Amino acid sequence: MTKPAFYVTTPIYYVNDVPHIGHAYTTLAADVLARYKRLMGFDVFFLTGTDEHGQKVEKAATAAGETPLELADRVMKRFQSLWEKLEISHTDFIRTTQERHKKGVSVLFERVLERGDIYLGEYEDWYCTPCETFWTETQLIDFKCPDCNRPTEKLKEESYFFRMSKYQEQLLAHIEANPDFIQPKSRRNEIISFVKEGLRDLSVSRTTFQWGIPVPGDPKHVVYVWFDALANYITALGYPDESGDFGKFWPANVQLIGKDILRFHAVYWPTFLMAAGLPIPSRVFAHGWWTVEGQKMSKSLQNVVEPNMLIDKYGADAVRYFLLREVPFGLDGDFSHTSLIHRINSDLANDLGNLLNRSTAMLGKYFGGVLQQPAQETELDAAYREKTMAMVALVDGHLEDLAFSKALQAIWEVISAGNKYIDETAPWTLAKDEANKERLATVMYYMLESQRMVYFLLSAFMPKTSEKGLCYLGVTEAPNREGLVWGGLKAGTTIAKAEALFPRIDEKAE
Ligand SMILES: [Zn+2]
Repeated sequence: MTKPAFYVTTPIYYVNDVPHIGHAYTTLAADVLARYKRLMGFDVFFLTGTDEHGQKVEKAATAAGETPLELADRVMKRFQSLWEKLEISHTDFIRTTQERHKKGVSVLFERVLERGDIYLGEYEDWYCTPCETFWTETQLIDFKCPDCNRPTEKLKEESYFFRMSKYQEQLLAHIEANPDFIQPKSRRNEIISFVKEGLRDLSVSRTTFQWGIPVPGDPKHVVYVWFDALANYITALGYPDESGDFGKFWPANVQLIGKDILRFHAVYWPTFLMAAGLPIPSRVFAHGWWTVEGQKMSKSLQNVVEPNMLIDKYGADAVRYFLLREVPFGLDGDFSHTSLIHRINSDLANDLGNLLNRSTAMLGKYFGGVLQQPAQETELDAAYREKTMAMVALVDGHLEDLAFSKALQAIWEVISAGNKYIDETAPWTLAKDEANKERLATVMYYMLESQRMVYFLLSAFMPKTSEKGLCYLGVTEAPNREGLVWGGLKAGTTIAKAEALFPRIDEKAE
């Protein structure tokens, strides 16, 4: 049987920027989804990459005394090394300066042009150079750019236009007919109002700079950065070649983005695709922003939560856990070192780590570390087993909704139930009487088997921790869907006493 396909993307990150916590957050969410779908038997394509064209890159490179490509090569590596450090399991990393991408963009542009939805015209409006954006006079605030508050200038240029206005009704109809297309719901409503206000034709070429993909047949124009960048989602799959990954994985199942670029993904991109006669992604999900210690992220605050520094200090899995556990995906969140340390100490060191540590230690003490066959199941055991099994469906449902925090919460409820189960069954008392040997063996089995299932699911969120936990539990197979049922641990397995998975952090010393 062929595996079902699943395609998840992050935005491609602009090389005129350094990797920060916002990039890490989007990419991490995509990674958890990709890992989970692989666990569930899907054939997953997980794409990330870098956006390397545009005037800002050209200018920054000139200022740094290098070519735009040299700048891109340098910054791109920073993203790649961060993803490695954060245990990101992407399938492909696309760069918009790669031949495969340039070729695909040219084809896409030509096809839309041939269909008559790109035409040559003249563009005149207020231009913000740093943002590379034209604004209408009504959008300006005191003649300044509404995005960055810098002065704008009136600019006229010959330009190719995309007939976006033509697709207004078709896009609205698509959004109405597909309630899950734009998420969360509040963002969907924003987009509906925006589209209803009327779509203008969009300038899709520039003559004011060179660093981009030349317009086919008219090389004094370069393709507008967003037309270029958005196409990465199909060029990485080999568009226009239908025979390989493009035929298999397009349209994308989930496109994860920050809320600041929703309009490009929920309005521009689908209308480009409609014009090219291509299917539209199933879902675009815009997550919220992070503030830092209660303040809006700024250049100086970015340093405080520089992802490499956080990983060096706390470890990749702790950072992965915190970012997805602390704030519901889709809402804005606040990053504070105090809450990170609190999560590590209470959720990871105490709840998760202690459970593994005390249960494996008990098995060592009472049965020489060899797992025994469970005997008669009591009501208490049954409730614990059922809670563990129910977790599998709960996590699946929450991840379907991209509710990462709720999924982790569901796992942590089983971990708490495990600690409570130990307190209630009191193995240390059972161990005092030889007559309770079978009962003690059963309790040991239940607490360890429940954790095996916890670590299977955790493999999507905290890959290294999951590996370690399963290793202590004597599990040699990689986590898989078939193993998400009760009874995977076999009697006779040798289980080692676990060391602390997450050493407690002394809050005062920080
Ligand atoms: Zn601006």
